[in-house]
Amino acid sequence: MRNADDVLLLIDLQYDFMPGGALAVARGDEVVPVANRLAQGFGHVVLTQDWHPVRHVSFAANHAGRTPFETVALPYGEQVLWPVHCVQGTEGAALHRDLDVPHARAVIRKGHHADVDSYSAFLEADRKTPTGLAGYLREVGVKRVYCCGLATDYCVAWSALDARAAGFETVLIEDASRAIDLNGSLATAWDQLRAAGVKRAQSADVLALSV
Ligand SMILES: [Zn+2]
Repeated sequence: MRNADDVLLLIDLQYDFMPGGALAVARGDEVVPVANRLAQGFGHVVLTQDWHPVRHVSFAANHAGRTPFETVALPYGEQVLWPVHCVQGTEGAALHRDLDVPHARAVIRKGHHADVDSYSAFLEADRKTPTGLAGYLREVGVKRVYCCGLATDYCVAWSALDARAAGFETVLIEDASRAIDLNGSLATAWDQLRAAGVKRAQSADVLALSV
């Protein structure tokens, strides 16, 4: 079992990111059993849910004449427009039923401000509004964050980068994550993660306590 200063952060294991979902990540469902195995090795697990109001700024449907996967310029920067996904309270926003982490201590819901997206579990896309997760983790003595889930190149990468920026030692578990890979986004994400000092690991090594 991991030390009390380690946390496993499971990102967005929700139906809309699974095959058949509104914003499906290819083979996204394959990470659920891996996440369950990993969770057995951690006394401290935190989950996230993408959790948008129906009028959310990241939905292409809320921008006249725009289609999903285009980008638009918003006051806080460039925003990819997505299909409508993870609307608060809908089945698509629910956590996968096979996720078996009854000991998860907290669920961080992100993207709930209508005019700001939040890929990251720590900081919204305006890069200044905190979700409160860094403060919570610091207050309970966490030093190291293990991130995985969906999608590697968006919410997992942004969360890992922000965990690192917040001063936590950070590990991204590659085989417990799957990517969207839009216009080279996966390679870009790994470059940024490496440059920031985020470690890249496999679940077997994490479970063996070798990373
Ligand atoms: Zn979203």
